Amino acid sequence: MENAVLTIQDVSKRFGHYQALDHVSLTIRRGDVYALVGENGAGKTTLMRMITGLSPISQGAIVLLGENARHYQMALSRIGAVIETPAAFDKLTVAQNLRLTAIQHGVTRDADIEDAIGFVGLTAKRDVKAKNLSLGQRQRLGLATAILAHPDFLILDEPINGLDPTGIVEFRELLHRLNVEKQTTILISSHILSELYQVATRFGFLHHGTIIKEVTRAALDAENSGGLQVTVDDAAKAAQVLDAAGLKGLHVSDDQHLTLAGAAADSAAVNRLLVQAGVAVVGIRVRTTSLEDYYTRLLASKEDAQ
Ligand code: ATP
Repeated sequence: MENAVLTIQDVSKRFGHYQALDHVSLTIRRGDVYALVGENGAGKTTLMRMITGLSPISQGAIVLLGENARHYQMALSRIGAVIETPAAFDKLTVAQNLRLTAIQHGVTRDADIEDAIGFVGLTAKRDVKAKNLSLGQRQRLGLATAILAHPDFLILDEPINGLDPTGIVEFRELLHRLNVEKQTTILISSHILSELYQVATRFGFLHHGTIIKEVTRAALDAENSGGLQVTVDDAAKAAQVLDAAGLKGLHVSDDQHLTLAGAAADSAAVNRLLVQAGVAVVGIRVRTTSLEDYYTRLLASKEDAQ
């Protein structure tokens, strides 16, 4: 597929009798921030390890940056990855750790090292040994290592683990800058779904080793939209007006509140109808449900179908 950074074709993985991945296919396109969502043991890390060559592909195929088996190593040199706990040499400082990575990747410009340190906000810690960094600072060092060689594609397995609230916000901004300013395509997993929702452009839901759903952020928002929550002085009268106008999915919650289901409800039109009929409109709010709700409902529908 044109513009595909990663194509996973019918990949399966067994550990002994355990089927960790079961015919997984997915495509990540240039510019995507692709979020892999799944329960503990769903197979997220296994998939990421296979993409990065840490675990062999025995069934199916993976095409990375246009390269498959023969030139896969070449493609790997154009990606960055932080999988599981970021590895760092404890006795080396932040800058020394990055220098080592720079040598391994053939990065020769000192400025690249300083840029990476600055980008992840570790300038004040550049001369501190890795063993003396906090968990969140180690995560940042891992990210600096992964982005040092300006990868086209970045793979991050639970990168937000251990970050404090400020760190999480900063990390979100870092990812956004990497994606928008440096055109880095990103594959990310996390259990903090509220964060994933804020950074991702597409979601892939992995459940017991199978992709059960792929959805763009826009489609998820549309599907997730719970309609409108309307606050008025007289909910019964408002309901009559909207019903007479042919609006569907009306529900009166109490004397002052009613809801309109579905994404089709247009707040401006509803407001106009009510005001013209003499109903005082206190507020109209688009109801949205969270990625957590979406995920929970998706899993429930899977369980029901079984
Ligand atoms: P988490 O959210 O907990 O990190 P995950 O989705 O990343 O979970 P994986 O680490 O990919 O899950 O594990 C998927 C399944 O495969 C688990 O049941 C795990 O026990 C099993 N597994 C992974 N690696 C091995 C291995 N080397 N040998 C045997 N089983 C393994």
